[in-house]
Amino acid sequence: MYINKAKTIVLKIGSSNLVDSRGKLKEKWLNSFVKDIKKFKKKGKNFVIVSSGAIALGQNSLNVKKKKLKIEMSQALASIGQIYLTNIYRKIFEKNKINIGQILISPDDTEQRRRAINIKRTFENLFKLDAIPIVNENDTTATSEIKYGDNDRLAARVAQIISANVLINFSDVDGLYESSKYKKIIKNVNDINEKIFSFVDNKKTAYGSGGMSTKLEAAKICMSAGCHMAIANGKHFNPLERLIKKNQCTWFIPKVSSLDARKKWIASSIGSNGKIFIDTGAHKALENGKSLLPAGIIKVEGKFSKGDNVLILDDGGKALARGLTSFSSIEIDKIKGLKTDQIESILGYFSKSEIIHRDDMVKL
Ligand code: GLU
Repeated sequence: MYINKAKTIVLKIGSSNLVDSRGKLKEKWLNSFVKDIKKFKKKGKNFVIVSSGAIALGQNSLNVKKKKLKIEMSQALASIGQIYLTNIYRKIFEKNKINIGQILISPDDTEQRRRAINIKRTFENLFKLDAIPIVNENDTTATSEIKYGDNDRLAARVAQIISANVLINFSDVDGLYESSKYKKIIKNVNDINEKIFSFVDNKKTAYGSGGMSTKLEAAKICMSAGCHMAIANGKHFNPLERLIKKNQCTWFIPKVSSLDARKKWIASSIGSNGKIFIDTGAHKALENGKSLLPAGIIKVEGKFSKGDNVLILDDGGKALARGLTSFSSIEIDKIKGLKTDQIESILGYFSKSEIIHRDDMVKL
């Protein structure tokens, strides 16, 4: 069982695990969950909890019944509810003599390399202090364009950044159903392909934002980062112990990867800032592990700056690779199709010959 062997485990708790359909906190359940963690923490494991529930608890405390909220309103309610959420965790963990820390994350924190390294350090130091980081999205300032929106992908990105061995995505379903009618779940997934996506039933719960698709996106991130991910039902008491005993869940098995930490981070980026379309010559060069030069670029799409994460596609629109660009979209537009020795005369300065260096690129 992957959990027994893991050193660092991320547990993602959905709002539906934490609050009932009337928006009330399931305190008994939370007590049993914390007891589980205490038991396994004694075996020397590091735990991280990614917990939703800020908006739901904010609604509950102010008696806001409405299900479809405007973003400004959910930001304000999250700001109120996040205090409740942290207090509840603090109260229960304190009873169990475990310290916790709160980490609120925005996409910029994980998608900018320097900030991601800072996050990693904070987690490592919390582990040194024997504390459990409790993570949520910084909902109070995030607007829809710059928001994860679901804690599924956020939890996966955190797992990747801190090199966690296992992420358990506790939800209100037993796993990925092959047939929802017969409640038959798929035990192991080695590759997320169209067939796997065809099993998606995106029914959402009253409070959670993610559905099965965001869970599969999260699994993709974990698989390319070398982290095992499970989708499991968290609604029972002692959900972790139960999962270890029964192994009733869907496991997503990571690919064996020779990528270093930096390339794993590039590979599992959330979204991209733009697109670069290349010709067959450049495609061949990338296949042979070469860098991307201006000569093979056909066109550029989107506005991005130097250092941004972009997708590289063939002329038919198939994504081939992603990487950190050394030139902005405006610069690339001016030098696309040209030879490297023409860069200086067109731009008026010389910076680099590669648009994306092979060290900053991963094939998809
Ligand atoms: N961050 C949101 C909250 O705490 C929930 C996001 C999700 O449901 O995944 O309320």
